[in-house]
Amino acid sequence: MALRTILVQDDPMLRKKCRPVTVFNDRIKQLVDDLVETLKASGGVGLAAPQIGILRRVAVIMDINKKPEEVIVLINPEVIDKKGSERVPEGCLSFPNVWGYVTRPTWAKIRAQDVNGNWFEREGEDVVAQCFCHETEHLDGHVFTDRIEEFIDPEDIKQG
Ligand code: ZN
Repeated sequence: MALRTILVQDDPMLRKKCRPVTVFNDRIKQLVDDLVETLKASGGVGLAAPQIGILRRVAVIMDINKKPEEVIVLINPEVIDKKGSERVPEGCLSFPNVWGYVTRPTWAKIRAQDVNGNWFEREGEDVVAQCFCHETEHLDGHVFTDRIEEFIDPEDIKQG
């Protein structure tokens, strides 16, 4: 496992569409391990491969609602259903000082493959649903700053 550098701000890698994973080999397992280690060290709740400069459709998310210690590995993920809509504060490890309100579903279902290539579906509410959307968008070269409806002053966050 290796701690990787998280790309930030205007790095062009964050704007590129990622390629699907078709071969589930040791390189993919290594990538997943690196993403998990980097996410755990970062204090964030989700991390996508392009954020460490790898243009493959892989992301890892912490299920902070149900099992905070569990990391969900999402390979070739797709949000297949969503319900509700709420305006929520959001941030991103690639934009360390940017916070803003975005509109996200209150519930979402994602379909993805695990590290062995097995398909599964998973549902998530609130922050987890938000994370499913945020990380999937990274894989298409979209970043959350494009969706911000109102910026939040970082000073307001620090003060609670
Ligand atoms: Zn992000």
